[in-house]
Order: sequence, then C-alpha cells, then structure tokens
Amino acid sequence: MYCRHCGSAFGEAAVICVRCGAPKGEGTVYCPNCAAQTQPGATVCLGCGGPLAKPQPDTAGGTQTAAIVSLVTGILSILCCSVFVGLPCGIAAIICAKKAKQKTGVMGPMELAGLICGIVGTVFSGLFIIVTIIYYIAFGVLIFSQVASESSEYLRVLAFRLMA
Ligand SMILES: [Zn+2]
Ligand SMILES: [Zn+2]
Repeated sequence: MYCRHCGSAFGEAAVICVRCGAPKGEGTVYCPNCAAQTQPGATVCLGCGGPLAKPQPDTAGGTQTAAIVSLVTGILSILCCSVFVGLPCGIAAIICAKKAKQKTGVMGPMELAGLICGIVGTVFSGLFIIVTIIYYIAFGVLIFSQVASESSEYLRVLAFRLMA
C-alpha cells in the first residue's frame, strides 16, 4: 500500500500518510498498489493494471442540468411547435434526456418527462412541417391551375379574334 499523494509506503492500518499527511486513498498522483505515477482521473493503473479509487462523482450537477434542459426544451418544443423552435428544442430535449440517463444509468422522472415532451414536440413539429409543405404545394397547384386556365382563356380569345 502506497500513499496516492506522495507515493511513500503506507501502513495497512494507517489512516493518514506519515510523510505528507494525506488521508488514505486521497490523491491522484501515485498508484496505491505499485506506487507508479497515475494520470488524474484514471480508473486503472497503467503500471500494475490494478483499480484506482474512482474519482468523485462530479457528474451529478451536470446530470441535473441535462435533465432540467431536457424538460424545459421538451415543453418549449410542444408550446412552439414549428420549424424554427419546436423541432430543434424537441431534438435537444431527447438528446439531453439520453445524456442524463447515460450519466446516471437510470431514467429519472425529470429526464423521462423531458424525453416524452421532446418526442411529442418533435412529432408535432414534424407534422406541422408536413402540413405546411402540403399547404404550400396545394396553394402552388391552385395558383398554377388558375394561371393555366387564364392563359388558355386568353389563347382562345386570341384565336377567335384571329379567325374573325
Ligand atoms: Zn503521502
Ligand atoms: Zn499500480
């Protein structure tokens, strides 16, 4: 057993390092098994392959943020279901919910709500886009047919005049 902070030998029963005073297992510089230097945040020693103390879970805050972002963007995507707001918000909500779930391994109620809102918002926005496209196509066809009938009318009048 070695001090993770200074790499000096550490008594099995010792609670703090006699050389540097670091608590047992504290530090990220040395492997507790072989005293090889380790990278901060590494979970496995490159010298002996032994497990290193896991870094403090600092992802809890990030997970909470992702869940909140997921929920907010999910609700936004439903409220403003359109091409410019609803679709990006809905997709962002789904991604954030998945990120939050990846970090914790379980789907919390907030992530779940965000995910559902995101899916609903994305589907609504998708439908909105499809309806808009159909509307414009129908409008375009209408205008075109009107123009076509008007021009054919004009051609007929022209033909009558030429014949007369
Ligand atoms: Zn030490
Ligand atoms: Zn080691």
